[in-house]
This record gives sequence, structure tokens and C-alpha cells, in this order.
Amino acid sequence: MSALCEVEDLVLHFGRVRAVDGVNLRVDRGQVVALVGESGSGKSTVGRCVVRLLQPTSGRILLGGVDVTTLNRRRLRPHRHKVSIIFQDPAGSLDPRFRVGDIVAEPLRVGSERVPGRQRSARAHEMLEKVGLPARIAARFPHELSGGQRQRVGIARALVSGPDLLIADEPTSALDVSVQAAVLNLLADLQRDLGFGCLFITHDLSAVEYLADTVAVMYLGRIVESGRVLATPRHPYTQALLSASPWPDPDAQRARTRVVLSGELPSPADPPSGCRFHTRCPVAEARCRTEEPVLRRVEGGSVACHLVGEDGSGPQLITPAASRAAAPPAPPSPA
Ligand code: SF4
Repeated sequence: MSALCEVEDLVLHFGRVRAVDGVNLRVDRGQVVALVGESGSGKSTVGRCVVRLLQPTSGRILLGGVDVTTLNRRRLRPHRHKVSIIFQDPAGSLDPRFRVGDIVAEPLRVGSERVPGRQRSARAHEMLEKVGLPARIAARFPHELSGGQRQRVGIARALVSGPDLLIADEPTSALDVSVQAAVLNLLADLQRDLGFGCLFITHDLSAVEYLADTVAVMYLGRIVESGRVLATPRHPYTQALLSASPWPDPDAQRARTRVVLSGELPSPADPPSGCRFHTRCPVAEARCRTEEPVLRRVEGGSVACHLVGEDGSGPQLITPAASRAAAPPAPPSPA
């Protein structure tokens, strides 16, 4: 399978703050890769580097095999349409001075395609209908819409130019719970119909369960585990995240072990020595304070933990596989 996007040893430091510190990622055509972690883990910064809203300190970003890391605006223009982004806050990401139709059509006006005016508006209307909004909404302003409608407009704008890769940066976390499921369902349907690859950035593991083919877990600027991590979480941090995520079946929820992490996420300006997770890890050993674990291949994925063996055996803080078998999570129902 050809890679839509490859991120190689990506680093972004803001002064002393090491927001992203050596991240490798790959998204294939038609694949949904979830990037999960707590607020401050660096996951959104990775997404912003991929769309070139932020300039990495070092490393490479390849889109369709082309290194776009250091291209200037003019040379980047032919590649812009390959990737687009949906932001967390639909209200803040839509310019209140413009009508919805113009907002959705904007990428067709400024992109490499340069679509003529009448076609732009026809494609914007078509895209609005694809995201479940009536075409007449094109005449309204963002402030006249609900939060869910605004996020649908954001999705329409992101997809109108037919990108190969969509960066969905916490697309439901600013929405009411009642509309989150509907927006997730919409994204899943569009991804299936249009076939774009997706980097789905979230802290919501129940959304990941429903949408993602593969998962990468970030902690303090680094990926600590990737692969089929929901079925077989090896890293203690992944297990802690899973144990804290809500479960649709109350009995299964009660039966699950809860891993309580001590303390807050350390500052990325002064990350702990050795394993960055050692200050909060319930099974840390002496060497964890001095030796940094490398991300290495195990069956079904990769993990960075001294206690995980070559065969993937390691700390078992929770038993999610048993809970999952007993009560697989249902897909979100439309709100
Ligand atoms: Fe915990 Fe040590 Fe593994 Fe880090 S390397 S996750 S501190 S056991």
C-alpha cells in the first residue's frame, strides 16, 4: 500500500519547550490513523506540522512521496490540496464576515485548481449536502448556525477540494455530547465514501474505537506505543488511558480495573530523564529513571517500555481484551 503521508523523526521545539521530539508516523491511502494522548502531549502540533501551519525544527514530512517540509509558499501550492484540516473549535475556525457558501468554496478559489466562480458555488452546495446540510444554508453566516452545523461546514470546507489526507484535530471535543456521535458517524461515512486517509487526533478513546484502523499514543512529545493498541495495550500509559475512557456497557465499565496516574503531565520544557513516563508510571523500576526506552517492534505494533518483552508480554494493569469480548462497544448512534 502506498503511503499518503510519512512523518520522519519530526521535531518541533518552541525555545526550550520540546513540543514534538522525534515522531515517526505513516498514513496509508484510505486508512484512519488515530493519534491519541493527553492535552499537552504534542499530538495537535504534529497535525499542524503536516498541514504546514507550523514549521518543524527538524525531520521530514512527505506527502505522496514528495518532501514538503521546507517548501516555500509558491512551491507548496501544488501540494496544498493533498491535505486539509478540521479544527477543534468550529466557531473560531470559520470567518464570521463571510457567508457559509463562500467559506466552503474558499479552497477552490485559492488552491492549485483555481475553479471558476459558478463551479465553485455548485461544488460548495454539493459538499454541503454531502455533510448533511441543505444547500440553502450557503447564504447564512456562521453565527446563525448551531455548533454541530458549524462543524459540518468546517468538514465541508476541508473536503471540497478532494484532499487525499484529512487531519481531524479533536473534531468533536468542542461540541455538545448530543451531537458528537452524529459528527463521528458523518466522518466515518465520508471517509468510506470518499476514500481519503485520515489522521484523527483525539483524547477520546471511544471515538478511536469506532473510527481508527491503527492507533499511535503520544506522551510528552514522543510516540510510546502504536499498532492495535486498543485490543492489546502494552504500554502502562496506554493502559491507564484505556482504563479511564468511558465504556458503553455499565457492567463492563464497573468490571474494568481503574489505573490512576499520579501527578500531572510534566512540563515539555523539562521532560523527566530516562523514560519520560517514569514519574507517573505505577510499575516504574530504577533503570526507568536513567535509561530511555526505544520504540521497538513487538507483535501487532511497537512499544517503548523496558518491561515489555520481544513477544509483547509485559505489565498487565488492566484486562481490556476480556472486557471487550464481553461487551464490544457499539458504534455511536446518530443524534
Ligand atoms: Fe513505566 Fe519503566 Fe515502562 Fe517507562 S519504561 S513505561 S517507567 S515501566
